[in-house]
Amino acid sequence: MNNKFIVLSDMNKEIKDNALFFMFFNGNLLVKQDNDNIVIPVFNEIEKLKIKYGDKFFFGEFNNQDCFVAETYEEFILLENYKLVPLYEIGTLIEEELFTAIGRANQILNWDKTHKFCGKCGTKTENKNNELAKICPKCKHVMYPVICPAIIVAVTRGEEILLAHNKGFKNNMYSLIAGFVEAGEDLTNTVKREVLEEVGIKVKNIKFNRSSHWSFPNSLMLGFFAEYESGEIKVDGEEIVHADWFTKDNFPTIPQKFTLARKIIDEFVEKTK
Ligand SMILES: [Zn+2]
Repeated sequence: MNNKFIVLSDMNKEIKDNALFFMFFNGNLLVKQDNDNIVIPVFNEIEKLKIKYGDKFFFGEFNNQDCFVAETYEEFILLENYKLVPLYEIGTLIEEELFTAIGRANQILNWDKTHKFCGKCGTKTENKNNELAKICPKCKHVMYPVICPAIIVAVTRGEEILLAHNKGFKNNMYSLIAGFVEAGEDLTNTVKREVLEEVGIKVKNIKFNRSSHWSFPNSLMLGFFAEYESGEIKVDGEEIVHADWFTKDNFPTIPQKFTLARKIIDEFVEKTK
């Protein structure tokens, strides 16, 4: 199967009956249960449900099928094989490429909702017709989807990796240190600052590893490895409530497979075999 998601945009794209339609409602995605699989309904199935929705946006292709997103604000009757899945659960239920598509869909909706009015003069904005952007009809200010870069870093010390429990984590999960890039900061400095602020450690040999969208609502996660340089663990107590050095044989609960954090942790495990 060619399960591939391609990012596209075309504000004038006509919707066809077989286009995948990503319908959001109150932090949930409308999906169809097809035997053991969860699938995205197509446009003509959505039409039959008679759901009212706001502007729809074309945002890419999944398996060569057009993808559109829209949001409904009204309760609607769920037919038997349909269900609403909370966005925070969806990553565990579907394949990664589809998760990427859902992320982009969510990010576009979030941008649409937060850019109804011009940030400069307050006039109601319009969708631009030649690109995925909004324009103010009065002052011509153009607004693109917002992307907020954030770093996530695996700090290693020989066979050990630093894992931390954030007070916002569910259960007793431990993960890597992460944080948003500040205005005017380069990525190396973000890594150094976040690690020092959150756990009181200095790091060196910072190397980029991989990146991933985190479109809930609008981050781009940039993953790094860094080596321990100096300092003792001292958690900030605000975000991080506990942190420690772990070897691969004594890991606590760590993030799920589809997350960037987990992919970096898995790579660390591979490296230390
Ligand atoms: Zn304006």
